[in-house]
Amino acid sequence: MKRERSVKIVATLGPASDNAEVIQELFDAGADVFRLNMSHGDHATVRARHQNIRKIEKAVGRPLAILVDLQGPKIRCGTFANGSEILTNGQIFRFDKDATPGDHSRVHIPVNEVFSALKPGATMLVDDGRIRLEVDEVGEDFVSCRVMEGGRISDRKGINLPDVVLPLAALSKKDRTDLDFVCELGIDWLALSFVQRPADIMEARDLARGRAAIMAKIEKPAAIECFDTILEAADGIMVARGDLGVEMQVHELPPVQKRLIRRCRAAAKPVIVATQMLESMVASPVPTRAEVSDVATAMYEGADAVMLSAESAVGKFPVASVRTMNNVAVSVEHDPTYRQIIEASRHGTRQSVADAITLAAREIAETADVKAVCCFTHSGTTARLVSRERPRIPMVVMTPFDTIARRMTLSWGAHCMVTALVQNFDEAVANAVATAEGEEFGKPGERVIILAGVPFNVPGSTNIIRIADIPCPAKE
Ligand code: PGA
Ligand code: MN
Repeated sequence: MKRERSVKIVATLGPASDNAEVIQELFDAGADVFRLNMSHGDHATVRARHQNIRKIEKAVGRPLAILVDLQGPKIRCGTFANGSEILTNGQIFRFDKDATPGDHSRVHIPVNEVFSALKPGATMLVDDGRIRLEVDEVGEDFVSCRVMEGGRISDRKGINLPDVVLPLAALSKKDRTDLDFVCELGIDWLALSFVQRPADIMEARDLARGRAAIMAKIEKPAAIECFDTILEAADGIMVARGDLGVEMQVHELPPVQKRLIRRCRAAAKPVIVATQMLESMVASPVPTRAEVSDVATAMYEGADAVMLSAESAVGKFPVASVRTMNNVAVSVEHDPTYRQIIEASRHGTRQSVADAITLAAREIAETADVKAVCCFTHSGTTARLVSRERPRIPMVVMTPFDTIARRMTLSWGAHCMVTALVQNFDEAVANAVATAEGEEFGKPGERVIILAGVPFNVPGSTNIIRIADIPCPAKE
């Protein structure tokens, strides 16, 4: 099984998509990475979703990445007795420390720091800024607000406080418990919400102890200010436009998105563009033209992956949403302009032997008739460098570690394969040509590029580039 495109699709699982059948359908439609959000669902739900993904992974015989989002210091309101309420402009609404379900006049906020940090006149934004309130009065255990822009407020909606700095740690107690729980389950990517500084990533990396790659979600202006150091500390980046678009002006997002994608590619680290990509498909079987264009734009900008959130987690058309992204990717990648843009936007320093070899592989693919580039990798580093070059031909990532195969699933173009540990270069060549043929990237008599390192099984040793024929069957 191989995809007809190089850009990857991340699908968030939720009540609309957590049984094995739907996960299978999402995979068939094009999902490469499944995201579990620790802001929703208890550990039993997460465990069940995790089991279902691994079950499908086994059934389809392809490595699948599981990306888990830690909630981070995100503030959410409590639940409502009726599930939701409509707030009208001008009414008074209270947030308080009382955990009983809310109603038309009040709801719980389970973060006490909020009550001491807010001052009268401050803005409170609910549900990605859809509802805006202004603080009127602050008490010991409540804030009373006037609704400036009303709307429907429902269970556990996110709350942003753009005017105040909250003295909250990067990883809450819940995050630490969740982190350990999911790392023990066995996940591939751990995404940190509301990262503000590189130290936040170091902290998570220490706790994860190599059990997951670390992704920084960029959703605070503070993270943009020190983006380069965050990028250096992280293994991947998510342009988390939901909260970022609330904490900043929405019109500031497009240039930020472009800039972040470019820097990630220069650093050879995967970048996901996230949130509201096909938002209308939560309720509608067809996207708006603007949404399709947004998905395509992220691809033209060089993103490794595009992501579905509510569309696949709680929407009515999770599978159609994935299919739409897949179709947009196929269409964009067939556009000659896409290749021109992607090739013209190569950046970043190339100083190492691995840089030289991956660049050479790309140039060979542009010059000679070769069908695939097969890359042996231990840590995934060489594969990420190949991916950064965005070669014209398919790239097969070959690694003895299923953890690396799964992590690399997020990177542009990577068709990941878990291979036996090879002992010498001849074995590697035989293995690569057999895999390229077996995965239908090439036929007997056609050629592939092989990247490997000798001595074998020493990380960071990529030093060989070889062009090999897929052997023709011996004549009788
Ligand atoms: P969230 O993160 O879905 O966890 O809020 C993504 C975003 O803010 O865009
Ligand atoms: Mn967010």
